[in-house]
Amino acid sequence: MLQANQSIVIHAAHDLRLENHSIAKPGPGEVLINVQAGGICGSDLHYYQHGGFGPIQLREPMVLGHEVSGRVAGLGAGVEHLQIGQLAAISPSRPCHSCSYCLRDKKNHCLNMRFYGSAMPFPHIQGAFQQQLIADASQCVTADGLTPGQAAMAEPLAVCLHAIGQAGDLTEKTVLITGCGPIGCLSILAARNAGAARIIATDLSDYTLGIARSCGANIALNTKTTPQALEALQAEKGQVEVHLECSGSATALNAGVACLRPGGVLVQLGLGGDMTVPMQTITAKEITLRGSFRFHPEFATAVALMQSGAITVDPLITHSFAMSQAITAFDTAADRSQAMKVQLTF
Ligand code: ZN
Repeated sequence: MLQANQSIVIHAAHDLRLENHSIAKPGPGEVLINVQAGGICGSDLHYYQHGGFGPIQLREPMVLGHEVSGRVAGLGAGVEHLQIGQLAAISPSRPCHSCSYCLRDKKNHCLNMRFYGSAMPFPHIQGAFQQQLIADASQCVTADGLTPGQAAMAEPLAVCLHAIGQAGDLTEKTVLITGCGPIGCLSILAARNAGAARIIATDLSDYTLGIARSCGANIALNTKTTPQALEALQAEKGQVEVHLECSGSATALNAGVACLRPGGVLVQLGLGGDMTVPMQTITAKEITLRGSFRFHPEFATAVALMQSGAITVDPLITHSFAMSQAITAFDTAADRSQAMKVQLTF
């Protein structure tokens, strides 16, 4: 039996359409999900505003979205851990489980990754901004006790938990977080949960810095209005032990490296294209530079941390729109002076 299913499809920059696609019954090991909430991410915005980013460009229409939660509406054969009606956070990470990276437990580097809403491979991987979705049971993490909006934050939170893992032990450390969009603010929450003693956050917008403070930043500095704000942290070769760079901006990267102590760790998780790196300073201060890209096991950890109350993402969820207002939602999400995480309801 086929059912009507509306999706949010990007055709080209600023060409966003609601389209009906039919959906089949879940097969063995699959689950039919009635999608409840979906967060608009920076990559969704890039497709909407520019048709892609860097070498990753739309070459065919693509359903957007990869931060979703929903209620279980149908179970395929052999699915045991889910019940009809149950809320689940849906991981967009679909590794193949059989390539050399999957077998070495590096599933975020899977050679055959089918990550929702990505124009990286061709044909593109269709996204999750759909009223109904067929997911693999292994993608569904039960989210009892959370709201659909909270459950839809598991994906960006998982990105930050992976970055915290890359940073090493944060206990009693001074952490600098540059860029206070959703990833920066969730990194503040994750760093606080990981035991950081002092968190300094920077951004160019007072609005986002206000949310950074409510997420637990001890100091929140506007480096646009106060370009010298980080100068005190550069004393004696640097006062910061870990720098989580979430902006993708070379200016923020350079400023953070100047604040890192010798032996400090720089984790780059903002994606801003190729950047000039101050390699001389990184060498002389013996700084460890680590990238951080996506996640895999951290998705279930993110759900558990929200369920236990250890991490509360509510300050980030600033807007919610019905999918019929998708264009308003995307335009709102693009305005960082008034929106943090904008979610859609389906
Ligand atoms: Zn694989």
